[in-house]
Amino acid sequence: MTAITNHMPTEELQALDAAHHMHPFTANGELADKGVRVITRAKGVYLTDSEGCEILDGMAGLWCVNIGYGRDELADIAARQMRELPYYNTFFQTTHVPAIALADKIAELTPGDLNHVFFAGSGSEANDTNIRMVRHYWALKGKPDKSIFISRKNAYHGSSVGSGSLGGMSAMHAQGGIPIPDIHHIEQPHWWAEGGESSPEDFGLTRARALEDAILELGEDRVAAFIAEPVQGAGGVIVPPETYWPEIQRICDKYEILLIADEVICGFGRTGNWFGSETMGIRPDIITIAKGLSSGYAPIAASVVSEEIAGVIASDEFNHGYTYSGHPVAAAVALENIRILEEEQIVDQVRVDTGPYLKEKWESLVDHPLVGEAKIVGMMASIALTPDKKTRAKFAADEGTVGLICREKSFANNLIMRHVGDRMVISPPLVISRSEIDLMIKRARLALDDCLEQITGDGLMVSAS
Ligand SMILES: *Cc1c(COP(=O)(O)O)cnc(C)c1O
Repeated sequence: MTAITNHMPTEELQALDAAHHMHPFTANGELADKGVRVITRAKGVYLTDSEGCEILDGMAGLWCVNIGYGRDELADIAARQMRELPYYNTFFQTTHVPAIALADKIAELTPGDLNHVFFAGSGSEANDTNIRMVRHYWALKGKPDKSIFISRKNAYHGSSVGSGSLGGMSAMHAQGGIPIPDIHHIEQPHWWAEGGESSPEDFGLTRARALEDAILELGEDRVAAFIAEPVQGAGGVIVPPETYWPEIQRICDKYEILLIADEVICGFGRTGNWFGSETMGIRPDIITIAKGLSSGYAPIAASVVSEEIAGVIASDEFNHGYTYSGHPVAAAVALENIRILEEEQIVDQVRVDTGPYLKEKWESLVDHPLVGEAKIVGMMASIALTPDKKTRAKFAADEGTVGLICREKSFANNLIMRHVGDRMVISPPLVISRSEIDLMIKRARLALDDCLEQITGDGLMVSAS
């Protein structure tokens, strides 16, 4: 077998990829025909592909590379840790320094009394942990019937059987026999698409009260927890109306329902505070963290739980864990990532400087004929594409048709911007500078112009009736 390297021609790499590599969330046959893009290296906010093309990564990988690419400190720490102790488990009455230090650091950073950390390898695994831990918690409290999780349609909580069930993605539920039992989905607080004639404030309250309705319908003694992202990410960067979260908190408190904030995207500075729960003013009993925890440099995640939950769980053996729970190399990398976030005051910078700067530029996109609304919290943002701003109309074409065109135009202008249906989203590295923000916005505008030109030519600038 010949060595496969960055120096091979792109077509050869594409052919080998098509022959053996199955991509997640992809129609692999179609991709094989089209030819995949090969990313070879990255630095700061820029990716380089096998054709030598430099692309501004407006998505920070998959919402994760918060400190940007190419930080040698993380590579050095990983190498040092691999030499010293590449692996050991934490199952059988053993631990190691990276796991101790990272759990300690996370407890210090997380709000309230979220002081106990159960490690996992991915956000999906951590949410699976939440399902099992919360049900076990209620069982230990003598309420084994409190087993139902309430979640939201169009939520994303991961792709395993458990976390995919918690999520509310209908395309996922259509495959592979999920959701599992005792997961209940309520409507999302997506005013632009679903708010009809009501004001965002009224709509936020209505959608929060859907939780109360569900609890009353299912029975307080049956509902274990409500799980939600502080700001929906994969669902399209949907920022709930301001009335939503306070009402959700009130309802969880009233009915003794645990509140789980899935902070996998929002955590570690994305919203301009360390955690989205702080930005949204909520007091969760559990948070899920992953992505920004290590800036994607190593796979690591965790459930962080309150004193109360940890205390109850500690009274019994919890028959759950992953080989890589608290993996020493990943933990060391995460610690170094957090050190950089703190030392370089990156979260503060997002809150007081680059975040507000991006907000001003991003919101200016609403003057574009294709853009209906622009939403942004910290460094996660979205725009709704529409053929008619006044009526918030959808396109007559299948949902996602125009979004996909816009994404391809964005790619062609060397900006990674993602589409969720006909919503465009960005989530750049938190270290993005003002001048890089200017370039990102310039390319986003070019993408919108090119998209408008194409869909006008194709007769797609038409409202659904
Ligand atoms: C990405 C994501 C997950 C899943 O994390 P994986 O590491 O891909 O398993 C869970 N929740 C949210 C909010 C996410 O964005």
